[in-house]
Amino acid sequence: MNQSRQCAHTSAQTPKEHDVTCPECGAKMILRNSRYGWFYGCSAFPKCRAAHGAHPNGEPLGIPADSKTKRWRMKAHVEFDKLWKGPDAQMSRSEAYRWMIDTLALPKDDAHIAKFSTEQCQTLIAALAMRDQLDAINGKGTAR
Ligand SMILES: [Zn+2]
Repeated sequence: MNQSRQCAHTSAQTPKEHDVTCPECGAKMILRNSRYGWFYGCSAFPKCRAAHGAHPNGEPLGIPADSKTKRWRMKAHVEFDKLWKGPDAQMSRSEAYRWMIDTLALPKDDAHIAKFSTEQCQTLIAALAMRDQLDAINGKGTAR
């Protein structure tokens, strides 16, 4: 990194590079300047063309999902889908989503696991586990 100069009058304009992981390939993203302003480009460029916007101070615009978050989203989806899909389905798809919205206190438009943070994924999985326990106590659970 070469942006650590201590010069007081340039520090306001010199953006600070944040740790950004490429959502496509998992490589580090590098803060670059262009005539459109600062942005993060994948260090695997040109093999990987992923890019992410940055504020003028170097802060990434939003946070692209890193591979860890992606893995949690996949896991959360697999577990959640069991509620309404497959041999153990317990409700319809719309009932399952209503349950998720109620349980996680989500705004209706944000009931998309694809938008979840790692923490939300973990909360959803925990809520599903809790639900399963309750069903077991109430004798509704599948014998496992
Ligand atoms: Zn990449």
